[in-house]
Formats: sequence, C-alpha cells, structure tokens
Amino acid sequence: CGIVGYSGKQQAAPLIIEGLKRLEYRGYDSAGVAVAASTAGAGSATALHCLKKTGRVANLEQAAAQAPLPPSTCGIGHTRWATHGGVTEANAHPHLSHDGRLALVHNGVIENCDSIKKFLLAQGCRFRSETDTEVLCNLIAYHYAKEAEPATTAAGGDGPSQRLLSAVRKTLRHVEGTYGIVALCVDAPEALVAARQGSPLILGVGEGENLIASDAAAIVSRTQKVVYLNDGELALVTPTSLHLSGLNAVALEPVFDEITWSI
Ligand code: GLU
Repeated sequence: CGIVGYSGKQQAAPLIIEGLKRLEYRGYDSAGVAVAASTAGAGSATALHCLKKTGRVANLEQAAAQAPLPPSTCGIGHTRWATHGGVTEANAHPHLSHDGRLALVHNGVIENCDSIKKFLLAQGCRFRSETDTEVLCNLIAYHYAKEAEPATTAAGGDGPSQRLLSAVRKTLRHVEGTYGIVALCVDAPEALVAARQGSPLILGVGEGENLIASDAAAIVSRTQKVVYLNDGELALVTPTSLHLSGLNAVALEPVFDEITWSI
C-alpha cells in the first residue's frame, strides 16, 4: 500500500515513520520499518534490523520509542494492505530473506508466487510468512547469492549495490503481476534498489540524501525535486547518486520534475 525509503545523513527510522504517517490516508492494516546498521564491537558487521506492528503507524512509532532500532542512515518502510495472508506481524513488511541479508517492501500482487515458492522450497528456503512479498524477497536473495560481483562499477554505486541491482533485475524477469518495490541489502548498506510495474514510485532528490516513496506526500516535506519512475524501470539510489535503468539493463536518463505544492 505505502512505501518510504531513505538514504542520507539523517537517522532513517524516525524519518521513514514520519513519511508512513503521511501515507496513512490511503488506508492500511499494519506497518513496519527496516534499517541497515553496523553494530558496535568486533568487526562491526552490518546487519538488517526490522520492526513491524499490526494496526496504526502510531503502534510502530511507540514500539520504536520503547526499543529503538540501532542508529542508521538508510532504511525502508511500508504500510500494508493485505492481499496474500492475514493481518499479522509476520505478514507485515519489510520482509527479510531467509538468510537475513536482504529486506524488501512491496506494493502490489505477485501472480505466479506459488510456482516461485515451490522452486525456492526445493532449494531449501524456509518461509516465515504467507505473503507473495516474502517469496519475491527470497528469489532476489537466490539470484544475489549466485551473482558474481561486477569488476567495474561504471553504472554507479559500488560492487555490492550493482550486484543487488542485477539480482533484482533477474528476479523481475521471472515475475508476473504488479509491483512497486524497494530492496535493501547488508552488503550495500547505503544503497536502495527500487523497481516499478503497475504500482507507482517516486524518487525524491535531496542534498546529500535521496528518498523513494509510493506517493509524493511522503517526501515533499524534505524535497520538491523528484523523478517519477515508469513501469519497467529500476533505480539504484545512494545518498549522492541516482541511476535509472530498464529491465534490459540499458541505462536511462532521469527526467527531473518539480512538485509545486508542499505540506
Ligand atoms: N501483496 C502484498 C501483501 O499482501 C502487498 C500488499 C500491499 O500492496 O500492501 O503483503
């Protein structure tokens, strides 16, 4: 139903929850947020941290106040309108891949999720929810694991973010249905990969920060400079860069627009 992604210099979780509140008017049954954060200590490895609640965004906000997510400047959030699976915390988005290395938010419906799930189960993948979105998330993880890191990074972003983009692209070639998605990966903790088919997504271009949302209302308080994503397009976003491409991997020139209203 509603999507907000942020990569920049500010704390991502409160900003994403704020954005989700601005999407509440569209209706939803649950809400969640995930961030990529490096925990202090030996090696300071990056991990994904996720918080989800059924009901109002205020429930999520309260939970985040009681048990804050670790500091992070990059994350994704979602308000869900259930189509596959009941209204439960497990079915709320973001969904983590079974290895915990990828998080995904998704608007829309994956029509061929049953056959994809069968394939992934045969590969040993385990599922925690009843959603088509978790299936999509794990198919991206499957392709990501098989993907070699590219030697060159000409198309922007570093090796891991290019690898994520490529895995999302491969996945979408096998998917039937509608989607607006944003993916986050532990190996590229400042990058977001978005894609759209039949479900709107808009990129907000800020100073040292970029946003992704399903609706301008979620981002217009931070920036009025935007790029509308078209069907069949993917975006790789970092705090300081924005690259568009097609499902055929051809790079596309972004068309910048100005939102002329504010809230
Ligand atoms: N099909 C997904 C689900 O049921 C996404 C629903 C939505 O667009 O919010 O979880």
